[in-house]
Amino acid sequence: MLRVVPFEMGNASMKQLLGGKGANLAEMTRVGLPVPPGFTITTDVCRAYYAAGGTMPEGLFPEVQEAMRRLEQAKGERFGDTERPLLVSVRSGSVTSMPGMMDTILNLGLNDETVEGLARSTGDARFAYDCYRRLIQMFGNVVFDLEGYHFEFLLQRMKQRLGVESDHQVTAEGWLSLIGEYQGIILKYAGRAFPQQVDEQLELAVEAVFRSWNNHRAQIYRNIHRIPDEQGTAVNIQSMVFGNMGADCGTGVVFTRNPSTGERTLYGEFLMNAQGEDVVAGVRTPKPIVKLQEEQPEAYGQLIAAAQKLEGHYRDMQDIEFTVERGKLYLLQTRSGKRTAQAAVRLAVAFVGEGVITREEAIQRIEPFHLDQLLHRAIDPSCRPDVLASGLPASPGAAAGQAVFDADTAEAWARAGKKVILVRSETTPEDIHGVLAAEGVLTSRGGMTSHAAVVARGMGKPCVCGCEAIRLGERAFEVAQADQVAATIAEGEWISIDGATGRVIRGVVQLREPELTAELEQLLSWADEIRRLAVYTNADTPEDAAKARGFGAEGIGLCRTEHMFMSPDRIPVVRGMILAERPEERAEALRELLPMQQSDFEGLFRAMDGLPVTIRLLDPPLHEFLPNLEELAVLRSQLTLRQDADEEELQRVERLLRKVRSLHEMNPMLGTRGCRLGLIHPEIYEMQAEAIFRAALHCSEQGIDVRPDIMIPLIGHASELKLMRELVDRAASEALGSRPCPFTYRVGTMIEVPRAAITAASIARHADFFSFGTNDLTQMTLGYSRDDAEGKFLSHYVEHKLLPANPFQVLDQEGVGMLIRWAAGQGRAVKPQLKMGVCGEHGGDKESIFFCHAEGLDYVSCSPYRVPLARIAAAQAAL
Ligand code: PEP
Ligand code: MG
Repeated sequence: MLRVVPFEMGNASMKQLLGGKGANLAEMTRVGLPVPPGFTITTDVCRAYYAAGGTMPEGLFPEVQEAMRRLEQAKGERFGDTERPLLVSVRSGSVTSMPGMMDTILNLGLNDETVEGLARSTGDARFAYDCYRRLIQMFGNVVFDLEGYHFEFLLQRMKQRLGVESDHQVTAEGWLSLIGEYQGIILKYAGRAFPQQVDEQLELAVEAVFRSWNNHRAQIYRNIHRIPDEQGTAVNIQSMVFGNMGADCGTGVVFTRNPSTGERTLYGEFLMNAQGEDVVAGVRTPKPIVKLQEEQPEAYGQLIAAAQKLEGHYRDMQDIEFTVERGKLYLLQTRSGKRTAQAAVRLAVAFVGEGVITREEAIQRIEPFHLDQLLHRAIDPSCRPDVLASGLPASPGAAAGQAVFDADTAEAWARAGKKVILVRSETTPEDIHGVLAAEGVLTSRGGMTSHAAVVARGMGKPCVCGCEAIRLGERAFEVAQADQVAATIAEGEWISIDGATGRVIRGVVQLREPELTAELEQLLSWADEIRRLAVYTNADTPEDAAKARGFGAEGIGLCRTEHMFMSPDRIPVVRGMILAERPEERAEALRELLPMQQSDFEGLFRAMDGLPVTIRLLDPPLHEFLPNLEELAVLRSQLTLRQDADEEELQRVERLLRKVRSLHEMNPMLGTRGCRLGLIHPEIYEMQAEAIFRAALHCSEQGIDVRPDIMIPLIGHASELKLMRELVDRAASEALGSRPCPFTYRVGTMIEVPRAAITAASIARHADFFSFGTNDLTQMTLGYSRDDAEGKFLSHYVEHKLLPANPFQVLDQEGVGMLIRWAAGQGRAVKPQLKMGVCGEHGGDKESIFFCHAEGLDYVSCSPYRVPLARIAAAQAAL
């Protein structure tokens, strides 16, 4: 087992072992870039640590010490030396980047004596004490788990005492007094003194970084991004360079291109006289990178050269951390930069244009889920928002919500169904659950690379950060304009943010729907050449159908006709149909519904001219259209108790109550729905089929190419489909009379009941197509109510890893997937040309799409906004 690997021995391909950071530090060292020397303790060690129940492997530390000796030689310094002490950083480095989720300690190797040596050797006592107090604070946080506020409080109190505002103005004596106080905090709350033995510091720090792999926020992050727990983290130990050693020092983060837009300009920020964490943590608002050219022209030149070299070397946009020590540039990290969807698309197309990557690689680089972000809404340009303030446009998209000021409230309110905007001075990794719950994030401090910005971009949430005009109180914020309070927003008030421009707006603004950019069109057209799966859409209105067609949908895979009955002008007619006491009454209601349905279908056929339109006959239980049983019962009691009750009204309510009660079911999802409805009340399906054929005939007379696919829901038995098919064919011949049919129609079935999947061979005899309704198929295969599971037990299952993911979002391949595989095989054996696809929610999920491709299905069908995502995922599946 490789346990300790010096930077000069590794390379970029060793990511699994060295973590992303370690592998890239090694790679940069290998190609001769200026990286301070160091070494990596491998992810194997992390796994061994956890396998042994949280104990460090035997013999590891002597190996680490040996590597430290080599570092000492390279630097000409010694660890723990009182004259020229070697200082190191100890940083986590996971295989998949998890920005800010795990821990880092800088300046390790300082103690009460070596700090004096550092002061003497640099001639700068103020600097040395500053480094030492940072070490004690980070060590307290990371190793002893002490809360940051203990230290923050003392820092603020000391600055008040000195009468200074910024850290720069603190004197050596100020830092020295703080060191004493910090050590007191460690002693008081950790129950032991800050370790003076540098080897002990190192051992404790390494172990703490391994422990941080399992801290709460890292676990949440892994859950969201589906990073396996077994990956583990590496630990990088690297000799320190100092950005806080004076005016010719600094530190920063730079992206080789703009990660928000994809534009080809250097993008980033830096702070002079500061240490790395100051930039990333968003504690001070840094300056834009172009200013470095004015302040440190030579270092800027070195940075440009390094950036170009790294981008060329990795053939991708890089996110680089650097430090300038006394005018010389050092690189501390490089990685492929996280980017917005907009930037990802633009970069992928640009790199193909520059001859850097192939079209296939360009498609592989798009995270389909991120396309959701691209298709985010923006503020309607025609509206005149009440702009309160402006910050940095850190993550695109616009959002509105009620202002909340801490992550726990954000989470609680979101759970109660509210939309919230999380407003913080800055976010830390501890706020991640709040960011997840919020519609968007607003911060008053921190730059475009601050934690809030990086995390929001990763999750595709709108974010405005560094909005300095807002002053945060505990339960409100003030907006300052020219030193006056121009507005106050209290907790719960509605605000909107625009992550594309940085605007913060009072109230709720009008949002505009997104459109495809030229670059995305380009990428999608490349994807279309590669993919084999067709992409259809689930749409119930001509507007949705047209939108989806604009996004590239090749047909409607599911029109849920019950949605057409939900509008306020139709509900009374639908109720009339359900509640009819006599057949003539029902027939009358159906006659009224027929022209409405016909015009619905004509709208769909027009929007989808030339493409298949799959229309599913009525599916949900009838009680969904009826008045609520409990409410009716209450109304009846109230009427009975009233002296002056209108007798006729009372009778009407009683009749209604009786009817509703008679239709009431304990388990409506397993009740009179789907084809059962069509079998018990054939007149309903007859009306729908008649409306479809009338609409198809009418449209085809107008020259529209109609391709109706009629779909029967909830089939469990071949006999059901046989009867329903006969019903549809009869309706067709009645509508046609003696005319020949000017279009082709097909009759197919949903496969969404396990029995249908199992007996697919018999069912296929009566079907022209199968559409896997994976929502119901998941519900019935797992026995989880799709309406209740998510709010009740499913999150527990996912959190505790009883399930790898929410099966209603990501197809359960092992269970539900096997039913699909079986049914597809049986269906094909009977009818080799049987058309097959998925129309449940899974049709818009990347992994599930990969599965559909692998199983040789013909199409997936998803909501209109997911169509571009599905086109990319289908291409990736084919690569
Ligand atoms: C399904 O069950 O997967 C399906 C598409 O139908 P619905 O969601 O309407 O039940
Ligand atoms: Mg269903």
